[in-house]
Amino acid sequence: MTIIDGKAHAAQLREKIAGAVAGLRADHGVQPALAVVLVGDDPASQVYVRNKGVATEKAGMRSIEHRMPASASESEVAALVRKLNDDPEVDGILVQLPLPAHISSENIIAEIDPYKDVDGLTEANAGRLLLGKGGLVPCTPQGSVMLAKSVRGDLSGLHAVVVGRSILVGKPLAMLLLAENCTVTMAHSRTNDLDAICREADILCAAVGRPRMIKGDWIKKGATVIDVGINRIEEDGKMRLVGDVDFDEAEPGAGAITPVPGGVGPMTIACLLRNTVIAAARRRGLGPIDV
Ligand code: NDP
Repeated sequence: MTIIDGKAHAAQLREKIAGAVAGLRADHGVQPALAVVLVGDDPASQVYVRNKGVATEKAGMRSIEHRMPASASESEVAALVRKLNDDPEVDGILVQLPLPAHISSENIIAEIDPYKDVDGLTEANAGRLLLGKGGLVPCTPQGSVMLAKSVRGDLSGLHAVVVGRSILVGKPLAMLLLAENCTVTMAHSRTNDLDAICREADILCAAVGRPRMIKGDWIKKGATVIDVGINRIEEDGKMRLVGDVDFDEAEPGAGAITPVPGGVGPMTIACLLRNTVIAAARRRGLGPIDV
Protein backbone atom coordinates (compact mmCIF):
# COMPACT_ATOMS: atom_id res chain seq x y z
CA MET A 1 0.00 0.00 0.00
CA THR A 2 1.34 3.40 -1.02
CA ILE A 3 0.45 6.58 0.80
CA ILE A 4 0.66 9.19 -1.92
CA ASP A 5 2.77 12.03 -0.62
CA GLY A 6 1.04 15.10 -2.02
CA LYS A 7 3.48 17.42 -0.27
CA ALA A 8 6.47 15.83 -2.00
CA HIS A 9 4.75 15.82 -5.41
CA ALA A 10 3.74 19.45 -4.93
CA ALA A 11 7.29 20.41 -3.94
CA GLN A 12 8.62 18.75 -7.10
CA LEU A 13 6.07 20.54 -9.25
CA ARG A 14 6.83 23.88 -7.60
CA GLU A 15 10.50 23.35 -8.35
CA LYS A 16 9.70 22.76 -12.03
CA ILE A 17 7.54 25.88 -12.04
CA ALA A 18 10.32 27.95 -10.46
CA GLY A 19 12.58 26.72 -13.28
CA ALA A 20 10.02 27.76 -15.91
CA VAL A 21 9.65 31.18 -14.25
CA ALA A 22 13.42 31.64 -14.20
CA GLY A 23 13.47 30.76 -17.92
CA LEU A 24 10.75 33.32 -18.71
CA ARG A 25 12.65 35.99 -16.82
CA ALA A 26 16.01 35.17 -18.38
CA ASP A 27 14.82 34.70 -21.96
CA HIS A 28 11.99 37.22 -22.18
CA GLY A 29 12.29 39.54 -19.17
CA VAL A 30 8.86 38.38 -18.00
CA GLN A 31 8.02 37.89 -14.34
CA PRO A 32 4.54 36.32 -14.13
CA ALA A 33 2.19 37.97 -11.66
CA LEU A 34 -0.79 36.52 -9.83
CA ALA A 35 -3.44 38.87 -8.44
CA VAL A 36 -5.63 37.52 -5.66
CA VAL A 37 -8.84 39.27 -4.66
CA LEU A 38 -10.06 38.70 -1.12
CA VAL A 39 -13.39 40.17 -0.09
CA GLY A 40 -14.26 40.19 3.61
CA ASP A 41 -12.40 38.74 6.58
CA ASP A 42 -13.20 35.02 6.58
CA PRO A 43 -10.30 33.56 8.62
CA ALA A 44 -9.87 30.42 6.47
CA SER A 45 -9.81 32.51 3.26
CA GLN A 46 -7.20 34.81 4.80
CA VAL A 47 -4.95 31.81 5.52
CA TYR A 48 -5.44 30.46 1.97
CA VAL A 49 -4.64 33.83 0.42
CA ARG A 50 -1.55 34.25 2.57
CA ASN A 51 -0.32 30.76 1.64
CA LYS A 52 -0.94 31.40 -2.04
CA GLY A 53 0.99 34.68 -1.85
CA VAL A 54 3.98 33.04 -0.16
CA ALA A 55 4.03 30.14 -2.65
CA THR A 56 3.76 32.55 -5.60
CA GLU A 57 6.76 34.57 -4.46
CA LYS A 58 8.77 31.46 -3.62
CA ALA A 59 8.32 30.33 -7.22
CA GLY A 60 9.82 33.63 -8.38
CA MET A 61 6.53 35.23 -9.43
CA ARG A 62 4.93 38.45 -8.30
CA SER A 63 2.03 38.22 -5.89
CA ILE A 64 -0.50 41.05 -5.80
CA GLU A 65 -3.16 41.07 -3.11
CA HIS A 66 -6.33 43.12 -3.27
CA ARG A 67 -8.38 43.14 -0.09
CA MET A 68 -11.87 44.57 0.00
CA PRO A 69 -14.17 44.91 3.00
CA ALA A 70 -17.10 42.49 3.42
CA SER A 71 -19.36 45.47 2.73
CA ALA A 72 -17.99 45.89 -0.83
CA SER A 73 -20.71 45.78 -3.45
CA GLU A 74 -20.85 43.34 -6.36
CA SER A 75 -20.22 46.17 -8.79
CA GLU A 76 -17.13 47.29 -6.86
CA VAL A 77 -15.68 43.77 -6.96
CA ALA A 78 -16.57 43.45 -10.65
CA ALA A 79 -14.87 46.79 -11.36
CA LEU A 80 -11.68 45.58 -9.66
CA VAL A 81 -11.70 42.38 -11.72
CA ARG A 82 -12.12 44.41 -14.92
CA LYS A 83 -9.22 46.63 -13.87
CA LEU A 84 -7.04 43.54 -13.38
CA ASN A 85 -8.19 42.20 -16.77
CA ASP A 86 -6.89 45.39 -18.36
CA ASP A 87 -3.62 45.48 -16.42
CA PRO A 88 -0.88 44.19 -18.72
CA GLU A 89 1.30 43.33 -15.72
CA VAL A 90 -1.25 40.84 -14.32
CA ASP A 91 -1.15 37.29 -15.72
CA GLY A 92 -3.50 35.47 -13.37
CA ILE A 93 -6.60 36.56 -11.45
CA LEU A 94 -7.98 34.54 -8.59
CA VAL A 95 -11.07 35.63 -6.70
CA GLN A 96 -11.00 33.84 -3.37
CA LEU A 97 -14.28 31.99 -2.80
CA PRO A 98 -16.66 32.03 -1.05
CA LEU A 99 -17.64 35.65 -1.55
CA PRO A 100 -19.95 37.37 0.95
CA ALA A 101 -23.57 36.26 0.47
CA HIS A 102 -24.70 39.51 -1.21
CA ILE A 103 -22.23 39.01 -4.08
CA SER A 104 -22.89 36.48 -6.83
CA SER A 105 -19.71 34.48 -7.40
CA GLU A 106 -21.14 33.43 -10.77
CA ASN A 107 -21.38 37.07 -11.89
CA ILE A 108 -17.87 37.86 -10.63
CA ILE A 109 -16.30 34.80 -12.28
CA ALA A 110 -18.01 35.77 -15.54
CA GLU A 111 -16.04 39.05 -15.44
CA ILE A 112 -12.62 37.34 -15.38
CA ASP A 113 -10.66 37.38 -18.64
CA PRO A 114 -10.49 33.65 -19.60
CA TYR A 115 -6.80 34.09 -20.46
CA LYS A 116 -6.17 35.15 -16.85
CA ASP A 117 -8.61 32.70 -15.26
CA VAL A 118 -6.06 30.62 -13.32
CA ASP A 119 -8.83 28.88 -11.37
CA GLY A 120 -10.28 27.61 -14.67
CA LEU A 121 -13.81 28.51 -13.62
CA THR A 122 -15.02 30.74 -16.45
CA GLU A 123 -17.49 29.37 -18.99
CA ALA A 124 -14.82 29.68 -21.68
CA ASN A 125 -12.35 27.46 -19.85
CA ALA A 126 -15.02 24.99 -18.70
CA GLY A 127 -16.18 24.77 -22.33
CA ARG A 128 -12.65 24.23 -23.60
CA LEU A 129 -12.18 21.41 -21.10
CA LEU A 130 -15.40 19.77 -22.28
CA LEU A 131 -14.35 20.13 -25.91
CA GLY A 132 -10.86 18.79 -25.17
CA LYS A 133 -9.32 22.01 -26.47
CA GLY A 134 -7.00 22.75 -23.56
CA GLY A 135 -7.12 25.97 -21.59
CA LEU A 136 -6.76 26.79 -17.95
CA VAL A 137 -7.96 23.81 -15.93
CA PRO A 138 -9.29 23.94 -12.33
CA CYS A 139 -6.42 23.34 -9.92
CA THR A 140 -7.74 20.68 -7.53
CA PRO A 141 -8.91 18.30 -10.30
CA GLN A 142 -5.62 18.83 -12.16
CA GLY A 143 -3.65 18.01 -9.02
CA SER A 144 -5.81 14.94 -8.38
CA VAL A 145 -5.11 13.54 -11.84
CA MET A 146 -1.38 14.19 -11.45
CA LEU A 147 -1.37 12.20 -8.21
CA ALA A 148 -3.32 9.32 -9.79
CA LYS A 149 -0.82 9.24 -12.67
CA SER A 150 2.10 9.30 -10.24
CA VAL A 151 1.12 5.81 -9.09
CA ARG A 152 -0.69 4.34 -12.11
CA GLY A 153 1.24 5.90 -14.97
CA ASP A 154 -0.97 5.62 -18.03
CA LEU A 155 -4.61 5.72 -16.88
CA SER A 156 -5.95 4.51 -20.20
CA GLY A 157 -8.76 1.96 -19.88
CA LEU A 158 -9.04 2.19 -16.12
CA HIS A 159 -12.45 2.61 -14.53
CA ALA A 160 -12.53 5.89 -12.62
CA VAL A 161 -15.41 6.65 -10.29
CA VAL A 162 -15.80 10.29 -9.25
CA VAL A 163 -18.09 10.84 -6.28
CA GLY A 164 -19.26 14.46 -6.36
CA ARG A 165 -20.32 16.56 -9.36
CA SER A 166 -19.51 20.12 -8.34
CA ILE A 167 -18.37 22.68 -10.89
CA LEU A 168 -15.20 23.25 -8.88
CA VAL A 169 -14.09 19.63 -8.48
CA GLY A 170 -16.27 16.69 -9.56
CA LYS A 171 -17.22 17.72 -13.11
CA PRO A 172 -13.81 18.97 -14.26
CA LEU A 173 -12.14 15.96 -12.61
CA ALA A 174 -14.39 13.60 -14.57
CA MET A 175 -13.54 15.46 -17.81
CA LEU A 176 -9.80 15.27 -17.12
CA LEU A 177 -10.02 11.53 -16.41
CA LEU A 178 -11.98 11.05 -19.61
CA ALA A 179 -9.23 12.91 -21.46
CA GLU A 180 -6.81 10.36 -19.94
CA ASN A 181 -8.94 7.64 -21.58
CA CYS A 182 -10.45 6.36 -18.35
CA THR A 183 -13.94 4.92 -18.36
CA VAL A 184 -15.59 7.43 -16.06
CA THR A 185 -18.59 7.01 -13.78
CA MET A 186 -19.88 10.13 -12.03
CA ALA A 187 -21.73 9.58 -8.77
CA HIS A 188 -23.56 12.07 -6.59
CA SER A 189 -26.14 12.40 -3.84
CA ARG A 190 -28.90 10.76 -5.93
CA THR A 191 -26.80 7.78 -7.04
CA ASN A 192 -28.26 4.39 -6.18
CA ASP A 193 -26.01 1.67 -4.76
CA LEU A 194 -23.07 4.03 -4.36
CA ASP A 195 -21.04 1.48 -2.42
CA ALA A 196 -21.34 -1.09 -5.25
CA ILE A 197 -20.31 1.52 -7.84
CA CYS A 198 -17.31 2.56 -5.78
CA ARG A 199 -16.28 -1.10 -5.49
CA GLU A 200 -15.87 -1.21 -9.30
CA ALA A 201 -13.38 1.64 -9.36
CA ASP A 202 -9.73 1.22 -10.29
CA ILE A 203 -9.41 4.89 -9.43
CA LEU A 204 -11.81 6.15 -6.81
CA CYS A 205 -12.04 9.92 -6.37
CA ALA A 206 -14.05 11.35 -3.50
CA ALA A 207 -15.08 15.01 -3.64
CA VAL A 208 -18.12 15.12 -1.43
CA GLY A 209 -17.47 17.02 1.79
CA ARG A 210 -18.69 14.29 4.15
CA PRO A 211 -16.21 13.03 6.72
CA ARG A 212 -15.17 9.38 6.20
CA MET A 213 -18.26 8.60 4.14
CA ILE A 214 -16.43 6.08 1.94
CA LYS A 215 -15.80 2.92 3.89
CA GLY A 216 -13.06 0.33 3.58
CA ASP A 217 -15.35 -2.30 2.03
CA TRP A 218 -16.38 0.16 -0.74
CA ILE A 219 -12.86 -0.03 -2.16
CA LYS A 220 -11.71 -2.60 -4.68
CA LYS A 221 -8.48 -4.36 -3.70
CA GLY A 222 -5.53 -2.51 -5.16
CA ALA A 223 -7.54 0.58 -6.19
CA THR A 224 -6.00 4.04 -6.22
CA VAL A 225 -7.96 6.32 -3.91
CA ILE A 226 -7.83 10.08 -4.39
CA ASP A 227 -9.48 11.77 -1.43
CA VAL A 228 -10.26 15.39 -2.27
CA GLY A 229 -12.46 16.01 0.77
CA ILE A 230 -11.34 18.33 3.52
CA ASN A 231 -13.58 18.12 6.56
CA ARG A 232 -12.95 19.80 9.90
CA ILE A 233 -14.31 17.63 12.71
CA GLU A 234 -14.02 17.54 16.47
CA GLU A 235 -12.70 14.25 17.80
CA ASP A 236 -11.40 13.35 21.25
CA GLY A 237 -11.73 17.01 22.19
CA LYS A 238 -9.48 18.11 19.29
CA MET A 239 -10.15 19.67 15.90
CA ARG A 240 -8.97 17.41 13.09
CA LEU A 241 -8.94 17.47 9.32
CA VAL A 242 -10.27 14.29 7.73
CA GLY A 243 -11.13 13.29 4.19
CA ASP A 244 -14.26 11.84 2.61
CA VAL A 245 -12.67 8.39 2.81
CA ASP A 246 -12.27 6.47 6.05
CA PHE A 247 -8.48 6.35 5.80
CA ASP A 248 -7.88 3.72 8.51
CA GLU A 249 -10.42 1.35 6.95
CA ALA A 250 -9.30 2.05 3.38
CA GLU A 251 -5.57 1.72 3.88
CA PRO A 252 -5.26 -2.10 4.05
CA GLY A 253 -7.16 -2.83 0.83
CA ALA A 254 -6.30 0.13 -1.36
CA GLY A 255 -3.24 -0.02 -3.60
CA ALA A 256 -2.53 3.65 -2.98
CA ILE A 257 -4.30 6.46 -1.17
CA THR A 258 -3.90 10.20 -0.65
CA PRO A 259 -3.90 11.24 3.00
CA VAL A 260 -5.81 14.23 4.37
CA PRO A 261 -4.08 16.52 5.05
CA GLY A 262 -1.00 16.20 2.84
CA GLY A 263 -2.56 14.66 -0.27
CA VAL A 264 -4.53 16.62 -2.84
CA GLY A 265 -4.46 19.89 -0.83
CA PRO A 266 -0.80 20.81 -1.50
CA MET A 267 -1.25 20.02 -5.20
CA THR A 268 -4.00 22.63 -5.49
CA ILE A 269 -1.68 25.58 -4.81
CA ALA A 270 1.09 24.07 -6.97
CA CYS A 271 -1.37 23.77 -9.88
CA LEU A 272 -2.45 27.37 -9.35
CA LEU A 273 1.17 28.45 -9.80
CA ARG A 274 1.41 26.18 -12.84
CA ASN A 275 -1.65 27.84 -14.39
CA THR A 276 -0.16 31.28 -13.71
CA VAL A 277 3.05 30.45 -15.62
CA ILE A 278 1.08 28.87 -18.45
CA ALA A 279 -1.20 31.94 -18.62
CA ALA A 280 1.78 34.31 -18.60
CA ALA A 281 3.45 32.51 -21.50
CA ARG A 282 0.28 32.07 -23.53
CA ARG A 283 -0.92 35.63 -23.18
CA ARG A 284 2.41 36.88 -24.46
CA GLY A 285 2.53 34.39 -27.33
CA LEU A 286 5.61 32.68 -25.88
CA GLY A 287 4.39 29.19 -26.71
CA PRO A 288 3.60 26.23 -24.51
CA ILE A 289 5.47 25.82 -21.22
CA ASP A 290 6.41 22.32 -20.10
CA VAL A 291 5.46 22.13 -16.42
P1 NDP B 1 -19.83 20.65 -3.14
O1 NDP B 1 -20.60 20.73 -1.86
O2 NDP B 1 -19.95 21.74 -4.13
O3 NDP B 1 -20.23 19.28 -3.89
C1 NDP B 1 -20.35 18.10 -3.20
C2 NDP B 1 -20.79 17.00 -4.12
O4 NDP B 1 -20.92 15.81 -3.36
C3 NDP B 1 -22.12 17.26 -4.81
O5 NDP B 1 -22.03 16.94 -6.16
C4 NDP B 1 -23.07 16.32 -4.08
O6 NDP B 1 -24.07 15.76 -4.90
C5 NDP B 1 -22.17 15.21 -3.64
N1 NDP B 1 -22.68 14.54 -2.46
C6 NDP B 1 -23.14 15.11 -1.31
N2 NDP B 1 -23.56 14.15 -0.45
C7 NDP B 1 -23.39 12.97 -1.06
C8 NDP B 1 -23.64 11.64 -0.71
N3 NDP B 1 -24.17 11.32 0.47
N4 NDP B 1 -23.36 10.67 -1.58
C9 NDP B 1 -22.82 10.97 -2.80
N5 NDP B 1 -22.54 12.22 -3.20
C10 NDP B 1 -22.83 13.22 -2.34
O7 NDP B 1 -18.32 20.42 -2.70
P2 NDP B 1 -16.95 20.64 -3.52
O8 NDP B 1 -16.94 19.82 -4.74
O9 NDP B 1 -16.64 22.09 -3.62
O10 NDP B 1 -15.91 20.03 -2.48
C11 NDP B 1 -15.94 18.67 -2.12
C12 NDP B 1 -14.92 18.43 -1.02
O11 NDP B 1 -13.64 18.74 -1.52
C13 NDP B 1 -15.11 19.30 0.22
O12 NDP B 1 -14.73 18.54 1.36
C14 NDP B 1 -14.12 20.42 0.02
O13 NDP B 1 -13.66 20.98 1.24
C15 NDP B 1 -13.00 19.67 -0.66
N6 NDP B 1 -12.14 20.50 -1.49
C16 NDP B 1 -10.80 20.30 -1.37
C17 NDP B 1 -9.93 21.04 -2.12
C18 NDP B 1 -8.46 20.75 -1.98
O14 NDP B 1 -7.65 21.58 -2.29
N7 NDP B 1 -8.09 19.54 -1.55
C19 NDP B 1 -10.38 22.11 -3.01
C20 NDP B 1 -11.81 22.17 -3.16
C21 NDP B 1 -12.64 21.41 -2.39
P3 NDP B 1 -25.28 16.62 -5.54
O15 NDP B 1 -24.69 17.34 -6.69
O16 NDP B 1 -26.25 15.58 -5.92
O17 NDP B 1 -25.75 17.53 -4.44
